[in-house]
Amino acid sequence: MKDYDVIVIGGGPAGLAAAISADKEGARVLLIEREAKLGGILKQCIHDGFGLVRYGEKLSGPEYAQRFIEEFHIRNIDYSVLTYVIGIEKTEHYTVRVVNTKGVTCYRTKTIILATGCRERTSKQISIHGTRPSGVFTAGTAQAYINILGQMPTKKCVILGSGDIGLIMARRLTLEGAKVCGVYEAKDSPSGLTRNILQCLEDYNIPLYLSHTVTRLFGEDRLKAVEITKVDEKMAPIFGTEEIIECDALILSVGLIPENELAESLHVEIDPRTKGPACDQDFMTNQAGIFTCGNALHVNDLVDYVSESGELAGKAAARYIYKDREYISIDTDNEFLYFLPQKIHIRDIENEMTFYFRSNQVLKNALMTLSVNGKQILKKKYRNLKPPEMETFKLDISQFKLTGDDKVTAALKGENP
Ligand SMILES: Cc1cc2nc3c(=O)[nH]c(=O)nc-3n(C[C@H](O)[C@H](O)[C@H](O)COP(=O)(O)OP(=O)(O)OC[C@H]3O[C@@H](n4cnc5c(N)ncnc54)[C@H](O)[C@@H]3O)c2cc1C
Repeated sequence: MKDYDVIVIGGGPAGLAAAISADKEGARVLLIEREAKLGGILKQCIHDGFGLVRYGEKLSGPEYAQRFIEEFHIRNIDYSVLTYVIGIEKTEHYTVRVVNTKGVTCYRTKTIILATGCRERTSKQISIHGTRPSGVFTAGTAQAYINILGQMPTKKCVILGSGDIGLIMARRLTLEGAKVCGVYEAKDSPSGLTRNILQCLEDYNIPLYLSHTVTRLFGEDRLKAVEITKVDEKMAPIFGTEEIIECDALILSVGLIPENELAESLHVEIDPRTKGPACDQDFMTNQAGIFTCGNALHVNDLVDYVSESGELAGKAAARYIYKDREYISIDTDNEFLYFLPQKIHIRDIENEMTFYFRSNQVLKNALMTLSVNGKQILKKKYRNLKPPEMETFKLDISQFKLTGDDKVTAALKGENP
């Protein structure tokens, strides 16, 4: 059985960055990817806007991924594509069992980095009444049809949900000649980035209807129409406001969820707020030697932060030596949609820590504070905070000489617009 220091599962931007960074630290690394090519979901994201934070350039998804793929190959890192991880066992270290055309193979490794990305929510998870015709796609599937397979999935469609992929698909479908009747969002504010609302909807005169949802599907073999209904502030449909729109496709952009199957099989603790693993500043989970990064950890809005988390996890996994860690958790108030990391390991802290958070609602003139035992150690002001836009900051936490008795809290306050 071949031995590695670090096995990275997933060859998207997070996994590639993690493998490169672990290799730079001198670790023996293997990357495992279930698809035929490296690059993850970026392979199908042919629009630009990737890499603005990291490179100051507007790259397409494949261009962004290619920079990492080239470096990965130059470094001659071991990898296996068309290979699916079917199980992980805790032995003295870990045994990873994979299946591919050669059959089933096992590898031994000291650490594992879960970089398996995220999944899209489907119509099953949002309960729409009516028949079950073909023509109901997630936005990612519609994107793969057009950008990878060269097939048009619709001539006239409705988009449910204002997540970024739905907004990007509204523009893409319009450019390819489809009629997009509108983007319908149950919440009273959009879920996607402001830049995507402007560039993908307003620039193409595609209407956005807030506080609306799809309540029924019509059609036998193929979708013929959808019923749209207004919703109240509790997102309950308002009787009497129903409207029927004829269309041959319903494109769902109703959220992404970190891919947790392997994490759960390893009894990794999952944070109900991020829906990904809870972790410390090294992106290590509650299972010693199991690290996570990218969209498997939490759904990022920009790929640049996905790569950053991969680099941090790769470095930490390569340097990892088993030692019991002493943790203090970070208590956060309900104004945060989520706050990462959830805990700090307080021994041998060397570097500055990277924090990520989202607000629970739109806030103006907001103040985020971090305190130790009630004493503020960091204050940050934000003119505007919106749930779709993730915030990040760094802090050298070693200067505070934290002990197990210390209490770290994060608080967020702001005005409702
Ligand atoms: C459909 C879709 C479209 C998106 N479009 C955009 C966009 O237009 N713009 C944008 O900024 N962001 C977009 N995103 C967000 C995007 O996912 C992130 O920016 C980034 O690509 C996440 O990187 P990642 O490496 O964490 O995950 P991914 O890129 O998803 O890579 C994860 C990889 O892990 C592999 N994998 C998973 N499980 C296993 C297993 N058991 N064994 C082996 N391999 C496995 C997968 O095949 C995949 O290649 C999109 C996300 C989705 C789901």
